[in-house]
Amino acid sequence: MTEIHPERPVNFIQNIITEDVKNGKNGGRVHTRFPPEPNGYLHIGHAKAICLNFGLAVANGGLCNLRFDDTNPLKEEVEYVQAIEKDVRWLGFDWEDRLFYASDYFDKMYEYAQQLIRAGKAYVCDLSSVEIRQYRGTLTEPGRESPYRRRTREENLDLFRRMKEGEFAEGSRVLRAKIDMDSGNLNMRDPVLYRIMKADHHRTGDAWCIYPMYDYAHPLSDALEEITHSICTLEFADHRPLYDWVLEHIDYSGEARGKPEQIEFARLNLTYTVMSKRKLRQLVEEGHVKGWNDPRMPTISGLRRRGYTPEAIRDFCDRIGVAKRNSTVDIALLEHVIREDLNRNASRVMAVLEPLRLVIENYPPEQVEWLEVENNPESPEMGRRQVPFTRDLYIEKEDFMEDPPKKFFRLAPGREIRLKGAYIIKCHQVIKDESTGEILELRCTYDPDSRSGGPTAGRKVKGTSHWVSAEYALPAEVRLYDHLFLGEEPDGEGQESGDRLNPESLVILKDCRVEKNLARALPGQKFQFLRQGYFCVDEPDSTPQKLVFNRTVSLRDTWAKQKNK
Ligand code: ATP
Ligand code: MG
Repeated sequence: MTEIHPERPVNFIQNIITEDVKNGKNGGRVHTRFPPEPNGYLHIGHAKAICLNFGLAVANGGLCNLRFDDTNPLKEEVEYVQAIEKDVRWLGFDWEDRLFYASDYFDKMYEYAQQLIRAGKAYVCDLSSVEIRQYRGTLTEPGRESPYRRRTREENLDLFRRMKEGEFAEGSRVLRAKIDMDSGNLNMRDPVLYRIMKADHHRTGDAWCIYPMYDYAHPLSDALEEITHSICTLEFADHRPLYDWVLEHIDYSGEARGKPEQIEFARLNLTYTVMSKRKLRQLVEEGHVKGWNDPRMPTISGLRRRGYTPEAIRDFCDRIGVAKRNSTVDIALLEHVIREDLNRNASRVMAVLEPLRLVIENYPPEQVEWLEVENNPESPEMGRRQVPFTRDLYIEKEDFMEDPPKKFFRLAPGREIRLKGAYIIKCHQVIKDESTGEILELRCTYDPDSRSGGPTAGRKVKGTSHWVSAEYALPAEVRLYDHLFLGEEPDGEGQESGDRLNPESLVILKDCRVEKNLARALPGQKFQFLRQGYFCVDEPDSTPQKLVFNRTVSLRDTWAKQKNK
């Protein structure tokens, strides 16, 4: 479960709750809910809402429900329901036995609608959706009343029942609230409560052909679950009067105690990515990424596959805080947080991403030395391991230059470097493919006394490189990721997902070599590849026969750099 950080500033919603509890509102109860629509996979923005809703419940000795807001059968699927449950659980939250669906309440909502009709507060309207929009007016122009607004209660009850029974075509009629066509708030100009949709629902099948609108279903679902604080994002602020109107004009008191209060907070936006499910779905459907859990996606499943931990995501949500004004968070902060986590918790290993063969001519051909190295200098309790040193090794191609500039502190002809945890070596000869000029192999010698504890161990050389034994290393595929979009704010007005995608957001290196110890790595397990970044074993593509690693983040912390400027 989440921890509460007493040192972090208390958010404004907690202040409201504290005040409500003090005043004995709702008998001092605190009950929140996380209400996803199962029309896509959850993203990091949802993680913010999850941490907030479940976190506030925990912090205040209350409860939090998981509720699927499944009122639109055209866009919703069981696949999404299952993925959402998995993601919320993985983030570390537990709804216990409080899993609900708005569709659980369809019967009651239908009764309540009849209540509104009987009270003269709702009517069946035959205007088309285009006409409804025309009649609604604008911010500067009042609306006009629908010619159907004066239907009798009896006629409305009869038409509404026949709507439910499937007598009318889709789009031919709706049920509307009778509120105020002159209202300054467009949402209050006789909003639609029910529409006809002849579609199968993933839970109720063909039982219904009328479906409630969000603005009608949401307050009622909240009330029926006895939610006290209904937390949602800012774009619903203008809907709050309608939320309150629905609860004021419907008598649900036989079913539930108290009245929920809607509170709005700013949604999370991140640089270099898009966040709405609509745009994420477009990326998937147009094949710009390989599924919702592509490690470049800002989805929870994508971040999980990329190597993010639930702890890091919760920490991130904590750090960004909760505000009343929309803003965009630098994705470098998210990367900083996972880097901090993995710095403490990931074992160091050696992996050569672009191998260059190196032969130590004065090293006995049959000899193997098992050198002991630390797993994590940040966490000595993580122990030590052994790596084999042999005559034939691989180092990183970019750690060698045949004709280096002055400031190149790695290997070059006639120069020395230390091999990490092992010996100092010197390069004598470069072997090339004569036709292409490609460097095939380096011929070197080593200083046998230069190992830790040896007589020349203290000898200073400028560079240290990671390496693996050619004989023992395992082949692996490594996938390097970068921002999905080139522009910092691809979510801006008028941008579609195909715009300005980063063509280098995925680079696959198929011929890497990793140290032998990784043969035992488990799916999802995380490592620091020395000097290269943090990586995890891909799930599901990695197998013992073919190891596949995802780079979670590089080691370069742009966030910490900015902060230290
Ligand atoms: P999207 O536009 O991505 O489809 P949504 O708001 O339609 O988002 P829902 O499934 O309806 O998605 O959202 C469930 C809950 O998560 C809502 O309470 C919503 O306010 C919240 N939420 C969605 N996106 C964000 C975000 N970017 N930041 C914070 N909370 C969010
Ligand atoms: Mg939505």
